[in-house]
Amino acid sequence: MVFKQTRYLFLLSICLLTLQSFKHNNQKVGQAEICEWYNNKAGAVSISFDDAGYSQFEYAYPIMQKYGIKGTFSLVGEWTNDVPSYSSETDMFQIKKMCWDNIVELHKNGHEIAAHGYRHIKYGREDHKDSLILQMLQIKNLIESKTNAEVYTMHYPYSYTSTKIINATKEAGYLFGRTAGDSNNLSTPSNFFLLASVPILNSTQPSMKDIDTYVENAKGRWLILMYHHFFTDQSKEMTIMRHHKVTNTYSVLPELFDQQMEILHKSDCWIAPIAHVGKYTHERNNTGISTKYCGKSITVSTQTSLNTKVYDHALSIKIEIPWSKVKIEGSSSDGTYVVQNNTLIFNTMPGSTVKIRKVK
Ligand SMILES: [Zn+2]
Repeated sequence: MVFKQTRYLFLLSICLLTLQSFKHNNQKVGQAEICEWYNNKAGAVSISFDDAGYSQFEYAYPIMQKYGIKGTFSLVGEWTNDVPSYSSETDMFQIKKMCWDNIVELHKNGHEIAAHGYRHIKYGREDHKDSLILQMLQIKNLIESKTNAEVYTMHYPYSYTSTKIINATKEAGYLFGRTAGDSNNLSTPSNFFLLASVPILNSTQPSMKDIDTYVENAKGRWLILMYHHFFTDQSKEMTIMRHHKVTNTYSVLPELFDQQMEILHKSDCWIAPIAHVGKYTHERNNTGISTKYCGKSITVSTQTSLNTKVYDHALSIKIEIPWSKVKIEGSSSDGTYVVQNNTLIFNTMPGSTVKIRKVK
């Protein structure tokens, strides 16, 4: 017993000494914090799509795959069938929509599938809340039955919403609601069910320069872009819209979309689906970190009040390290790392314990 106590005291004094020497060398060493955005990026951008038009699958999806960008695709229940099919609102010209196989492929490739109403009509501000919840569950359950994955995001049909519609969205089990608003969102949005987005009206509005500015302004913020169609210049859809002098075609030429994705790809922003950024934001705000130093290792623990079965996005942790090479275990990015400028960034799940050891 006496021997054990002595050993503990000895170990304790080593740890304290180590901590003191860290402090002596660099006041910042040992400090750990959760990065504002994943991988310590400067801002967040989400690419969102409405209506599940087939041109999204035909043109936007391969371009996004090329740049490794994942987006949020929302669909309308009654417009999505077993084969690609034409549909529209009453008296509007019909547009080809994706089929379930297309949706499942997007999901399997890491894109988020969101709800855009079972029908493409505004949720009624006068409807009883219970009726709204049922309508929202109808589309949520339909998508979940096809993809086998939880639906977290609602793109309100026509971006139309109200306090009652928001409350119904929450009660139906969604975590995020996207509306219009033509602006970006704060790093922590004041209401996750009123996420603002910037609508892409045609191939020139916004212009490439505007896109540059939006991305520049996304630093420290969360920008959501809202896309619809990607008709080619010679397509029958563009021909019809030109004939009718439609200005807001809600369609972008595929080659211009490619350039827009290139701008995003080259930016210092984290580009991820709405549910990923939203979850990260909640986790960042509801997770604490504690660090323990002993000899040549540091243990970093994250504690969260959130349900980690739902909030399952890895957090990026930035920590000051006095060693030049370390091995990380228990994180989402385990491995051996060379530490640059005494700073290490690693990813770990909320509610995890990570061991960082000095290695030669
Ligand atoms: Zn729509």
